[in-house]
Amino acid sequence: MTSEIRPQPGILDIALYEGGAATVAGKSNAIKLSSNENPFGASDRAKEVFSRCVHQLHRYPSTDHAVLREAIADVHGLDAARVICGVGSDEIIHFLCQAYAGPGDEVLFTEHGFLMYRISAMAAGATPVEVAERERTTDVGALLAACTERTKLVFIANPNNPTGTMISAAEIAQLADGLPPQAILVLDGAYAEYVDGYDGGLTLIEARENVVMTRTFSKVYGLGGLRIGWGYGPAAIIDVLNRIRGPFNLSNAQLETAEAAVRDQEYVTRCRTENARLRVWLAAALAELGVPSDTSLANFVLARFADVAEAEACDAYLRDQGLIVRRVSSYKLPHCLRITIGDESACRRVAHAVAQFKGKR
Ligand SMILES: *Cc1c(COP(=O)(O)O)cnc(C)c1O
Repeated sequence: MTSEIRPQPGILDIALYEGGAATVAGKSNAIKLSSNENPFGASDRAKEVFSRCVHQLHRYPSTDHAVLREAIADVHGLDAARVICGVGSDEIIHFLCQAYAGPGDEVLFTEHGFLMYRISAMAAGATPVEVAERERTTDVGALLAACTERTKLVFIANPNNPTGTMISAAEIAQLADGLPPQAILVLDGAYAEYVDGYDGGLTLIEARENVVMTRTFSKVYGLGGLRIGWGYGPAAIIDVLNRIRGPFNLSNAQLETAEAAVRDQEYVTRCRTENARLRVWLAAALAELGVPSDTSLANFVLARFADVAEAEACDAYLRDQGLIVRRVSSYKLPHCLRITIGDESACRRVAHAVAQFKGKR
């Protein structure tokens, strides 16, 4: 008997998202450099607040997230009424697709763009449209050329994952200006804090009606395990997203820990500085070994190998040494490995292991 129970069209075409590996069989002390996590963890103040949350587990959380939105607005100079908080920025991406794209609509993203854009577009029944990049960098001309009267959303991560590259404020403005009138530009700023002086596209959001930004506590704030993200944009769009947001989408622990984290900007600055220093060091060390990478502005480098076989062999060698990095074939970069910037000893171990690997070949 064949069942007549069927999901919405498109859903069975979604490829399951695979996170970065966390363990290597037989290695109890492997170093995980596969998910762009902050090697220093969360700030002490955030951890202290989280530990106190155990006393109010029986209480329902706030539905409007007012205290966290005020804290985010305070720190970034925003209008708190236009901040929306979600279960990771993934949930904000999901709300945008659910609210603005459906069957017949197109959702654009770039060739090596974040996999969640495709997944959320397909979950909404919309058509995902992948647009070529230029030298592993967002190509504004190509994105504009790919727009049609069906384009509803254009996602770009700036800096991008897994390439680490970024486009200028002028290029982002050109993209926003050139979009068809029914389309929203979504600037995914998951790595924005790693770029000294970058506002994540805030100036553009305040000047226009068609730009939204997503941000996360999962990267520089070191709270990937707790799942908190947020979005910011024009009042009309945020109002729409709030209508489909579950009233209790975030727990007390998420809300209060995130508030403590965002108020500890000293910690963010320290992590950004250390990341930049080690990223430059690691990229140079790899380049010297004949493994180039584009200049990264995020907390990882995308190491390019001669071919797929060499990338695979190096990945296997690193694993043997207890070093877990990320293969990025699903991002159409099978000859590359994405390596999260760890602490100093992790970076030195990676460089040392790649040198040994290269020496053996
Ligand atoms: C890590 C990452 C995110 C963050 O997702 P969360 O759901 O907030 O953990 C968003 N976008 C990109 C491009 C990322 O790499």
